Amino acid sequence: ERIRRKKILASIMGSEMDKIRRLPPELAEKIAAGEVIERPFSAVKELVENSLDAGATEIRVELQAGGKRLIKVVDNGSGMSPGDARLSIERHSTSKISTAADLERISTLGFRGEALASIAAVSELVIRTSDGSSGAGIEVSSKGGVETEVKEIAFPRGTSVEVRDLFFNLPARRKFLRSEQSELGLSVRYLTSAALAFPEVRFVLVHGRKEIINCLPVGSLRERIFELFGNDVLERLMEIDFRDGESRIFGFGSRPPEGKTDKAHQLFFVNRRPVRDRILQAALNQGYHGFLTKDLFPEAFLFLILPPEEVDVNVHPAKAEVRFGDSQRVFHLVLKGIEASR
Ligand code: ADP
Ligand code: MG
Repeated sequence: ERIRRKKILASIMGSEMDKIRRLPPELAEKIAAGEVIERPFSAVKELVENSLDAGATEIRVELQAGGKRLIKVVDNGSGMSPGDARLSIERHSTSKISTAADLERISTLGFRGEALASIAAVSELVIRTSDGSSGAGIEVSSKGGVETEVKEIAFPRGTSVEVRDLFFNLPARRKFLRSEQSELGLSVRYLTSAALAFPEVRFVLVHGRKEIINCLPVGSLRERIFELFGNDVLERLMEIDFRDGESRIFGFGSRPPEGKTDKAHQLFFVNRRPVRDRILQAALNQGYHGFLTKDLFPEAFLFLILPPEEVDVNVHPAKAEVRFGDSQRVFHLVLKGIEASR
């Protein structure tokens, strides 16, 4: 009986009844890339996160055509060795975690080791980098994720990543990108939030020949808000700073009864990572309920510092959302922070 069944099985295996096939690696790569890199701003975000993780104190972003033609991010961070530079564009290659336990307490912005691989898979990419140890640097070029050239170059400590023609090999994705201006707007919004989270870092954003952001390193969030938005904005905000054990909330929120006519001015950060979150949103609303002029919404730049093991950052492909171990506690932290300053 067993032999008979085995024979039947063998005859079925490999017959035309099979419909599932393993996708060729280039296609699998493109599909995976589409999850992480949705539009030019997603690439800008991933590259800037890498620069921040590398400890850069200066980050310069150059865009052409809203990032559709060119995205270039240059930093003065740790740089990479030649070997690391070549490995960095392979999927699941990262220097940031090595064990499953590390995934439970992430303290860097990146950790999945797939951003560079994803960007490389759908663009023409050039990485220039040096870790400053040997004086020389390396230049690695790739197209559609395939390495095309590697050469030694003179390069100061730091990294430059150049991304040309994003989605050149994913015409459907390219077709659905919005206008240059609207794609640019998303990058500006992201860089503004990065600049708020890292006041000690210099950020420059240039679009074509136009400089859009240029903020010098400063010592506090207050000074960064002043640099980015000016004194008018600061004057209608109140400072928030509240601690509860290991956790802390700080930042700025509308000074009642001031407010905005829309909710576009509410930014939340968890451990310096910009996030969208309904719990934080709800706590903010509740904290201001009844204190603002009718029909106005609070403006807010709120930073939560939580023990890394109490935040799961591995829940969203673009890392735009997080999950809290104890969301009740987080809700109350925000609420108490606002109440204490109101
Ligand atoms: P992740 O950030 O999740 O580790 P990435 O694909 O974004 O994955 O980057 C892969 C690796 O390449 C990083 O872990 C880091 O070691 C290296 N790397 C990328 N960008 C930079 C940079 N700007 N400076 C230094 N190292 C970098
Ligand atoms: Mg990264």
